[in-house]
Amino acid sequence: MPIDDLRLLSSRASKTTAVAPAGFHCKCGEPVFFRNSRCVSCNSPLGYEPNLRKIVTLEPGATEDLWRLGEDAENSGQLYRRCDNLFSAAACNWIVPVSDNGAIQQTLCQCCRLDRTIPDLSNAADQEAYHRISIAKRRLVACLITLGLPVASRISEDVEHGVAFDFLRSPSVGPRILTGYENGIITLNIEEAEDSRREQIRLEMGEAYRTLLGHLRHETGHYYWDRLIAGTAWIDDFRDLFGDEREDYAAALQTRYQQGPPLGWEARCVSAYAGVHPWEDWAETWAHYLHMMDTIDCALGLGLDPDSSIEMEVKPFTADALFRPEDPEGPRFLHFINSWTRLTAALNELSRAMGFNDFYPFVWSPRVVAKLHFVHLVVCDIGAAAESESSTTAEVAELK
Ligand SMILES: [Zn+2]
Ligand SMILES: [Zn+2]
Ligand SMILES: [Zn+2]
Repeated sequence: MPIDDLRLLSSRASKTTAVAPAGFHCKCGEPVFFRNSRCVSCNSPLGYEPNLRKIVTLEPGATEDLWRLGEDAENSGQLYRRCDNLFSAAACNWIVPVSDNGAIQQTLCQCCRLDRTIPDLSNAADQEAYHRISIAKRRLVACLITLGLPVASRISEDVEHGVAFDFLRSPSVGPRILTGYENGIITLNIEEAEDSRREQIRLEMGEAYRTLLGHLRHETGHYYWDRLIAGTAWIDDFRDLFGDEREDYAAALQTRYQQGPPLGWEARCVSAYAGVHPWEDWAETWAHYLHMMDTIDCALGLGLDPDSSIEMEVKPFTADALFRPEDPEGPRFLHFINSWTRLTAALNELSRAMGFNDFYPFVWSPRVVAKLHFVHLVVCDIGAAAESESSTTAEVAELK
């Protein structure tokens, strides 16, 4: 399958690459990257416009803090501010649109305004933690927006259905902060931003993979379960595939900590932790769906087509592994899955060649592929709904 077809699949829900490594250029022609706030070649200010999914060159607006997008960008008439967190430890390069009448509704960007509690920026360790967390969070949020998923702050935009983050450090006395999710709030223990500490926990827990980005992806899985599965038409299929989430969650966690991972999880789940409870299974599968979408999009953005550029024998999954084999888009999704398998097999070999741990230390069973297909259909569904809503809004605006 040609590269454009693969890209079409990842863009069925997502319009284009969120953080294309090869797609962004400064007006001077030099390549620029997702994290850049200035061009290293000509020093032009750069900003990330999450709705255009692009790093853009910024041109001065009417006043010192207003900017417009460079000439060849869409939306060149729109005014923007830089996120207030540009010069904070978050070092945020995102930009915020300013409304038509010049009123500024938000001073933080779509990503930074999700933060409800940030670390204590008066000390260097917490500053560094917030810096690292913010980098991971921007990557996550860019991907969520690209997939057409709702991303709104529970503090300033949607107090009922939005999401927010608490980045907390455990107190020197008293109970430790637990990374987790509850009622729209994602809590991250910021010690996870320290490599030595995180690695120590990874080994203690016997995990193959533990990263900041992985944590954030996993916890957003819980949030989107609340929004996209609970009380929706998907719930029965969810229970068939992942199990009944009404089983006692606290007891399931207790069993996991006392007895270790459930036997035979490999045949059903993407990771040992996923075997604990249907909610964790969903959150883990969700995280892997995002790993796959972001990484394969990145590979395609670099012109790396797993079909033509990787010569490696990998046993492909067949249609019966899918959640809905009869889905007209099923063969395309299956192809995507098999391309990912080939890509990660090659990346694992490259990691080994450098003496690193495997790039993607997971092996999927057909059941995991079915679960990933389910996640994909849920995401496509919400992406399509968001698209038709925005085109309806556009039509209404035209009628006016
Ligand atoms: Zn430049
Ligand atoms: Zn920001
Ligand atoms: Zn979880």
